[in-house]
Amino acid sequence: DKVYLNGEILPSEKAQVSVFDRGFIFGDGIYEAMAQINGVFFYEEAHLSRLAEGLAKIRIQYDVSQIPKEINYLLESSDLIGKDCFLYLQITRGVAPRQHAFPKDIQPTVFMYALPKVLPDINTIHAKVITREDFRWSRCDIKMTSLLGNVMLNEEAMQHECYETVLCRNGVVTEASHCNVFFVKDNVVYTHPANEFILNGITRLVVIQLCGELGLELKEEAISEDEIYNKDEAFLTGTSTQIASIQQINDHSYYTDSTVGPVTKKLQEAFHHLKGN
Ligand code: PLP
Repeated sequence: DKVYLNGEILPSEKAQVSVFDRGFIFGDGIYEAMAQINGVFFYEEAHLSRLAEGLAKIRIQYDVSQIPKEINYLLESSDLIGKDCFLYLQITRGVAPRQHAFPKDIQPTVFMYALPKVLPDINTIHAKVITREDFRWSRCDIKMTSLLGNVMLNEEAMQHECYETVLCRNGVVTEASHCNVFFVKDNVVYTHPANEFILNGITRLVVIQLCGELGLELKEEAISEDEIYNKDEAFLTGTSTQIASIQQINDHSYYTDSTVGPVTKKLQEAFHHLKGN
């Protein structure tokens, strides 16, 4: 498998990064993940502007306008031009002797790989999820490579044979370990506001836009932990998850079979069309 590293295409086993890369030492970097669907990267501009914002927030100087050209170079070398695939991209601060403060005159390390992957037309996941305390730091808006909190919280879901861990902070639902979370009650759609306690997902933004187009009322309001069980529907959003119905949360089942709520279904269908189907 070929990867992109600092302008070069290499077999993954030949690609080498210094052990003093700050990505390795501190998790000091920003990443993105996006999908090419029906020949185009889905909301590529939104992904790249979130990348630029993330880099600016942690003061890594890198011009993202060169990224599309580099992606193309990688896809060409991987024979993935125009094909359905997933792209992972990360930019770390670069290599320097270990010290906390940002080093001066440092060259960022840029790494990318693409994998062929076809997303299902309509999501068939009926997710079982658990809730846990959101013990991550309070800058979850930064899509940083340091994902230890998310990884630990996701592992809890795996231990419980669940798809995701829904996170609660100060008594309200924030998001999940690698997805955003939505609830539906009386045809009103709710999701946590985009502040420093969540990653503002591109799929989340698309769903908000679709609610407008479908005439669904949307409130960016946090749902309290004890209201979870009174909701009519709940779903997860994310680049690889797309829109996944939540069937069960802790011991509470929204549905006893593989029903998908009417609002979730409507959004899934609209999302499917948006992908160019
Ligand atoms: N929330 C977290 C913590 C994530 O890691 C992700 C994606 O990786 C998302 C939400 C969903 O974001 P997007 O829809 O941009 O994939």
